[in-house]
Amino acid sequence: MKIEILTLFPEQCEAVLGYSILGRARALGLVEIHARNIRDYSADKHRRTDDAPFGGGLGMVMQCQPIADCFRAVCAEWGARPHFVYLSPQGKTLTQQRALALSRMDNLVLLCGHYEGVDERVLEALVDEEISIGDYVLTGGELPALVLSDCIARLLPGVLKADAAFMGESHWNGSLEQPHYTRPAVWEGRAVPDVLLNGNHALQEQWRQTQMLERTRQKRPDLLSSEEK
Ligand code: SAM
Repeated sequence: MKIEILTLFPEQCEAVLGYSILGRARALGLVEIHARNIRDYSADKHRRTDDAPFGGGLGMVMQCQPIADCFRAVCAEWGARPHFVYLSPQGKTLTQQRALALSRMDNLVLLCGHYEGVDERVLEALVDEEISIGDYVLTGGELPALVLSDCIARLLPGVLKADAAFMGESHWNGSLEQPHYTRPAVWEGRAVPDVLLNGNHALQEQWRQTQMLERTRQKRPDLLSSEEK
């Protein structure tokens, strides 16, 4: 899968993309993620990419031309029109289910806004979907694009060490995961539940299922159906 992040701050993205599981997945060629500078496509002699809003107001607005030309350059290079996502606090909130659907696409282009945001006309003309990472406002779309890229990349085959290790994690099937423990078996007087030490896999599986439901009831009852609550 290929993901291209369109941004005014490609270095901010590259700084994150080289690390941990994402860095390893890129190095192994399991996913290609690249940040492209929108400013390189500006037709303005001073390479401007934003201007003051019509009708007044604070802040600057990112202009249509550099974004459209940048996206069209990606389409031309890839020989296909990729799904185009604008990261926006006005979009639908990202869920694990949406990330899974996006992970099944071959190519994605992610647009990062900045300042007051992006001229509405380029969104109308080119963008397929707006995604928000939560009901709050950040300074730019780079962190949301990295959140989305990370969320998608770990769902791709081979990225996590165990195949499909993401199945059964929190939000996989609408509930939270069970608690985890590691050595030592007793820490500052707190013991690991006996069931995890007795080697009975059937009992351990039963415990996991009960814990998943119990945690979800305690921490996120809004995820449960009325019968499960
Ligand atoms: N004026 C815009 C509004 O009120 O809807 C907010 C613009 S915000 C300061 C600048 C950019 O950050 C946005 O264009 C978007 O790309 C990104 N952004 C901010 N919060 C976000 C969120 N919760 N999810 C996704 N992107 C976000």
